[in-house]
Amino acid sequence: MICTTLPRNKRVLVRVDLNVPVHDDRVMDDTRMRLIVPTIKALRQAKNQCFLIAHLGRPKGWDPHLSLRLLVPILEHLLEESVTFAPDIKNIPDTALLKGCVLLENVRFYPEEEANEVSFSQHLARLGDFYVNDAFSASHRAHASIVGVPAYLPHAAGPLFQQELKALQRIVECPIPPVIAIVGGGKISTKFGLLHNLLKKTSVLAVGGGLAHTLLAAQDYIIGQSLCEMSMLDQARTFLKQVQHHSCTLLLPIDVVVRTKDGTERVCEVKEIPSDAVCLDVGPATCQYISEAITQANTVLWNGPLGRFEEPPFHKATEKIMHTIAEETQRRGMVSVIGGGDSVAALNAAKMDFAQFSYVSTSGGAFLEFLEGKELPGIQALR
Ligand code: ADP
Ligand code: MG
Repeated sequence: MICTTLPRNKRVLVRVDLNVPVHDDRVMDDTRMRLIVPTIKALRQAKNQCFLIAHLGRPKGWDPHLSLRLLVPILEHLLEESVTFAPDIKNIPDTALLKGCVLLENVRFYPEEEANEVSFSQHLARLGDFYVNDAFSASHRAHASIVGVPAYLPHAAGPLFQQELKALQRIVECPIPPVIAIVGGGKISTKFGLLHNLLKKTSVLAVGGGLAHTLLAAQDYIIGQSLCEMSMLDQARTFLKQVQHHSCTLLLPIDVVVRTKDGTERVCEVKEIPSDAVCLDVGPATCQYISEAITQANTVLWNGPLGRFEEPPFHKATEKIMHTIAEETQRRGMVSVIGGGDSVAALNAAKMDFAQFSYVSTSGGAFLEFLEGKELPGIQALR
C-alpha cells in the first residue's frame, strides 16, 4: 500500500519535477512547473511549510546555468506567494525561520544525491517531518531524494505521482482487452525490455521507426542505409522466435518511405528497399493496418515515433497514428496511454490536445521502465 493522504501542519519535503528545458538562462517551457502548482497549493492550504527538492539537467558539480534560482520568480508567480531560495542544501539556516515555501538548490549539485548517501538523506530528512514524492519521472532513480529520504520520514505519494501510477497500472495490470501496443523510436537496444514485456501483455504489437529495421534485417530483408543496430541482430532473432510462444501478433512494416540517393522521397515495399536508400518512415499501407488494429482495440499504448518526425514529410505516419488514437478515444472511450520524451515532442509538434487521450505521460525513462515490468525504486520506497 502507498499512502496518499497529504499531511497538515507539518514541515513537508516535497520531491517535485522541475526539470524544465533551459536555454541561455531562460526557461523555455514551464509545463512541469505548472503541473506541480496544485500539489503545492494543496499542501500550503493545509498549513504546511514546503521544502521543494528538485533537480535540473545533469550537472557535474555546481553549475550556475543549472541553478534552480532561475525558477524562483516563475514559481512565485504561479504559486501566488513568495518563495525563499536555499542556495546551499547542506547549510540551511534554522528552518523555523523560513516561512511558507522554500526551494532548495539543484539537488544534483551534490554527488551524494546520485550516490544515495545515507548522511545526505538523513540531513535532508532533518529539514522536515513528512516526505511527499510527486516526481514520478525521477522515480526510476535510486537517488537520495527519491529513496533515501522516505526511509527516515513518514511519507506519501503526491497527486501527480498517483495519477501517473494509476494510468500505467491501467495499461499493465488490468487492461481492457484487446490491447495493442505501438512501439517506434530510434534504437532497438533501448527497447528490448519493453518489447519483451509487451509480448506478454498485448494481443497486437506493432513495431515501426528505427527499431523495425533491425527486426527486418534479422529476417534478411535489405534495409539499405537505414538506422540499424547490427550488434543486436542475434537479440532480434531471439525476440522474433519468442513471439511464436505468445498469443501476440507482431506487426512489422510492409512498406516504408525512403529517401533515395538523389535526395528524393518515395514509398516502397519492404522487400524492394534499394540498397542505397534510407528508410525514414513507415508507409501508408503499414499505417492503414496499424490504424485498423487500433479500431479493433479497447486499450492502446503508444511509445516512440514511427518515423523521423522531426523532418517532414517523415512525420506522416506518426501523425496519422496519433490522430487515429485520439479519434477512437473520443468516439468510443477506448483507453489510450502515450509516453516517451520524443513521443510527447511529436504530439506537441503536431499541436495535439493531450486531453484527447486517456493519459499522456511526460515521465520519459520512468514511464519506459515501468512498462518494462520493473518495480521502480521510488515506488518501492513509498510502500
Ligand atoms: P521516445 O523518446 O518517445 O521513447 P525514442 O527516443 O525511442 O522515442 O526515439 C525517437 C527518435 O527515433 C526520434 O528522434 C526519431 O527521429 C527517431 N526515429 C524514428 N524513426 C526513425 C527512422 N526510421 N530512422 C531514424 N530515426 C528514426
Ligand atoms: Mg527519446
